[in-house]
Amino acid sequence: MESSGSATFAFQAEIKQLLHLMVHSLYSDREIFLRELISNASDANDRLRFESLAHPELLGADTDLAIRVTVDPEAGLVTITDNGIGMSRDEVIEHLGTIARSGTGQFLARMTGDQRKDAQLIGQFGVGFYSAFIVADEVTVSTRRADAPAEQGVRWVSDGQGEYSVAAVARTERGTSVQLKLKKDADEFLRPERLRALIRKYSDHIAFPVRLVAGGADEIVNRAKALWTRPKAEISDAEYVEFYKHLTHDAEEPLVWAHNRVEGKREYTSLLYIPSAAPFDLWNRESPKGVKLYVQRVFITDQATQFLPLYLRFVRGVVDSSELSLNVSRELLQQDETISAMRAALTRRVLDLLDRLAEDGEKYAKFWRDFGTLVKEGLVEDHANRERLVELLRFSSTRSTRAEQNRSLKDYLADANPEQNAIYFLIAESPTAARSSPHLEAFKERGVEVLLLTDRLDEWVMQHLTSHEGKTFKDVRRGALDLPTGNADKLATEPREEKQLLKRVKQVLRERVDEVRIGERLRQSAACLVLGDDDLGYQMRAMLTAAGHEAPAIVPSLELNLDHALVRRLNRESDPARFERLALLVFEQAVLAEGRQLEDPAAFVARLNELLADLEPAVDKPS
Ligand code: ADP
Ligand code: MG
Repeated sequence: MESSGSATFAFQAEIKQLLHLMVHSLYSDREIFLRELISNASDANDRLRFESLAHPELLGADTDLAIRVTVDPEAGLVTITDNGIGMSRDEVIEHLGTIARSGTGQFLARMTGDQRKDAQLIGQFGVGFYSAFIVADEVTVSTRRADAPAEQGVRWVSDGQGEYSVAAVARTERGTSVQLKLKKDADEFLRPERLRALIRKYSDHIAFPVRLVAGGADEIVNRAKALWTRPKAEISDAEYVEFYKHLTHDAEEPLVWAHNRVEGKREYTSLLYIPSAAPFDLWNRESPKGVKLYVQRVFITDQATQFLPLYLRFVRGVVDSSELSLNVSRELLQQDETISAMRAALTRRVLDLLDRLAEDGEKYAKFWRDFGTLVKEGLVEDHANRERLVELLRFSSTRSTRAEQNRSLKDYLADANPEQNAIYFLIAESPTAARSSPHLEAFKERGVEVLLLTDRLDEWVMQHLTSHEGKTFKDVRRGALDLPTGNADKLATEPREEKQLLKRVKQVLRERVDEVRIGERLRQSAACLVLGDDDLGYQMRAMLTAAGHEAPAIVPSLELNLDHALVRRLNRESDPARFERLALLVFEQAVLAEGRQLEDPAAFVARLNELLADLEPAVDKPS
C-alpha cells in the first residue's frame, strides 16, 4: 500500500486510561474482541445498506455485503474486513482516537477491578473497538468511505500505548479492515477451529455472512439470517439470549421476551425484551431509547422512539416492518397512522409480557425493583391501559415484611374484609416512617391492611387512582376514615370538658393547624396530623415548589388521643405557660412522627429541655 503524509497523534487521556485498564483487567475474557469487531463490521454494513437506499451508486458492483475473518498463522495476523460504509480521515481520528460519548467517564468510574464485571461493562459504553488491544500488540485499520475515491483511503496504526499514526493510502475496496498482530500468548486465535467456534457463539445471528478464510479454505460460518426472521419454533432460548446481548450490550440475561409476526393488513415482526436490570442511564433524558427499526430487513435506526410510549423506555428489541416505506424519514415516522396502530399493538404486547412475568413472583420482584416507577409513570400517562397497569402495581403494606413491595391490589382485595369499602394507603417519607406511623394504629387494631407508599412520585401517582373493583382509594392521612367497624358512637358526643381542651390547644397552635379534634386513628400515640380531603400533599407541594411554582401552605388538623397519658396531663394543666409548652410539644411530636422536619427545631429542643428540667411535679399515673 502506498502511504503518504503520516502523522502521529496522542490518544485522549481517557482512552489511555481505558486501554490500560482494559488490557490489564479483561485478560480472562479476551475472546470478546472478536465479537466487538464483528459487531462493528456489521454496523458498518448496515449503515451502507441504509445510505444506499437514497444513493444506490454507493453499492456499485459490490452488492453482497459481508464480513471476512482472515487468518495468517505465519505472520500471526487476524484481520476482520467489511465492505460497509468505511471511514474518512476525520472520522478515523474522531472514532478511534477520542471517546465522544459522555459514557466513558462513567465507564471508568464503574470499573470494579473484577475482571468479569468489567468485561461486561465494555460493550455497554461503546468502547468495543479498543478491546482489540487485549489480544494485539499492534492494530492496523485500513478504511475507505463508500463515497470517497480509491486514493482517499486511510491507514491508522497503533500499539495501544498512547499514540497512533494516520496516513493516507490508496484502497480499492470500500469499507474497513482491522488487522490484529496478535500477542505471543494470544496465538490460540490463529486456530481456525477456535475462531469458527467463537463466530458461532457470538455472531451467529449477524445478518451478514461471516466468512472464515484460513489455510486456503473460505467458508461461511454463521447462519447469516437475522434472528427475528426465523420461525419461532426453530429458535432456542440460548439464541434469543445471545441476540439480546448483542443488541443491548447487556451482560445479564433478559427476564422475558416476546417474538411475534403480525400478518394481514399490517405486516411486521417484533421481538421485544424486558431487561433484568435498569441501564445506568435510564433516568437520563438525553440517553438513547427506543427499539431498533428495520424496514424489509434494512436497518433504519436504533432509536425508533415512536413505537412505544415513553414509560416503556426500558423495553429493548427489534421491529421489522414490511409495510413502511423504505425511505421513511424520521419526520414522517412521527405522524404515520400505521405507526400509531403499531404503537398501540406493541404496547399491548409489552403489557401481555408483563402479565406473564407477574406469574413468576421472584422475577417480577426483580422487574419491579428497577422499573416499578415506570409502571407508575404509565398509570398517569397511558389512560387507555390504566386498568391493566393498575394490576401490575406492587406495594409494600402492613402485611408485607419490611419494605418489600410485593402486594398486588388483587392480593389486597382477596384478603380484605368484604365489608371494607376502601383500599387504604399511607404515603410517608420513608419505609421506616411509614411502618411506625401513628396513622396506622387503628388499622392495626382492626387488622385492616394499609398499603405503604414511599416513592417520591407516589402522591402524584395516587391522585390519578380513584377506585379499583368498586372500592375507593383512601389516603389514611386525610379526612374521616370510614373504618369497617367504626367507633363513631364513641366520638359522637364529646363531653364538654374535652371540647374545652380542644379549644385551648387550638388557641395555642393558632394558624399552625386547621382544627383540633378527637381522633379515631390513634391508640398508642398522643397525636397525629390529618390533611383535608382536598389539601395538597407534602410531596406534591415539594414537587411544585421545586419546579418554581407558588404552592399554598399545608394546614393540617391535629387529632388528639384522649386516652393518652400526655393528653390527659395536658387537660389537667392549669398553668397557662406550661400548657402552651406541652401543647406545642404534642403538635411537634406529630410532625416528627410523620418523618418530617420541624420548622424551628432549636425552639423545640429548648421547650423540651425546659419541661424535662421541670419534671418535679409528678407525671400522670396510669389509671
Ligand atoms: P460502538 O460500536 O459502540 O460505537 P466501538 O468502540 O466499537 O463503539 O466503535 C467506535 C466507533 O468507531 C464506531 O461507532 C464507528 O463509528 C467506528 N467504527 C468502528 N469500527 C468500524 C468499521 N468497521 N467501519 C466503520 N466504522 C467503524
Ligand atoms: Mg462496537
